[in-house]
Amino acid sequence: MRVATFVLACGCGLAVRGQAQSSPSGVRLDEGRFTVVADRRDDRLARTLLREALTSDSFPGLPRPRARVLIAIAPDAARFREWIGPNAPEWGAAIAMPDEQRIVMQGSRSASDAGDPRVVLRHELAHLALHEFLGGLPPRWFDEGYASVAAREWDRDAAFETSIGLVWHVLPSRDLLDRGFSGGASQASFSYAIAHRVVAELEALDPANGLRNFFRSWKDTGSLEVGIRTAYGMTGAQFDRHWQGQLRRRYGALSLVASLALVAGLFGVLLGPLFVMRRRRDKRRLEVMRAADAASEAALHASALAALLAPSDPSEAGDSSVPPLYRPGGDGYSPV
Ligand SMILES: [Zn+2]
Repeated sequence: MRVATFVLACGCGLAVRGQAQSSPSGVRLDEGRFTVVADRRDDRLARTLLREALTSDSFPGLPRPRARVLIAIAPDAARFREWIGPNAPEWGAAIAMPDEQRIVMQGSRSASDAGDPRVVLRHELAHLALHEFLGGLPPRWFDEGYASVAAREWDRDAAFETSIGLVWHVLPSRDLLDRGFSGGASQASFSYAIAHRVVAELEALDPANGLRNFFRSWKDTGSLEVGIRTAYGMTGAQFDRHWQGQLRRRYGALSLVASLALVAGLFGVLLGPLFVMRRRRDKRRLEVMRAADAASEAALHASALAALLAPSDPSEAGDSSVPPLYRPGGDGYSPV
């Protein structure tokens, strides 16, 4: 996911570079403009990725790339970390080196968070294609947004990410967006999602030509601002208002729901102790009331028993009729 301009310090692919086809430990596949090198155990993955690269070798708005590309599939996480170097972020699933037209990605034994290797490869190839045409012109946010759009990475997770992100973050300007990629994984995820939306909105401004005229003007003048004006007939500031408005319209409602859920959660945290105290107090009251009821019932029972054993009219001694516990004119059962 990360674009690096530094030279890979270690020998990713170098160990197998120059091999005609394959060795007992590694495989090298050459076809079209692609070379894929991998561990023998990733042979199938290497062939799948090569086929994907060959069959979808065009990118939105760009002329068909011509530069040769080396795709190195790291056999394990340790080798991947070793090949991408110490400066790559922990959350990076793959790395593209435009200066060398080289991609390093994780093999079939990588963790699931490495993503779908076909999508990852498409993302990285888009970085290379963009740089082949525009060189170093694209800022980071455009680079990532474009690669994400080209790889069709937008899904429900991205929508959710954006909605949650909007709860916590103010929508950044395009310039500020760049800083998000060097933040933590959460900030970076939000930045990826926003960058995707910005580029997607730009592309949607011209349904017929998409990004083609924009890229051409940007390359000719070296100015992204001029590219936007020429291709879409609006200033950069107008475009900013447009994409921010679109984003709020699409994800603002979801963001509001998320906000309410968070507020409810916050109230839970703040009011929770008060609720527990109230429950404890009510419980104590209930116990006191039950004790009083029990005492009352016992007294009532004793009174009734006493009434049974001691008739109120001595002259009627021996009458075993049950005395009335209800006194007419009273307020119910004798309170005793
Ligand atoms: Zn990327």
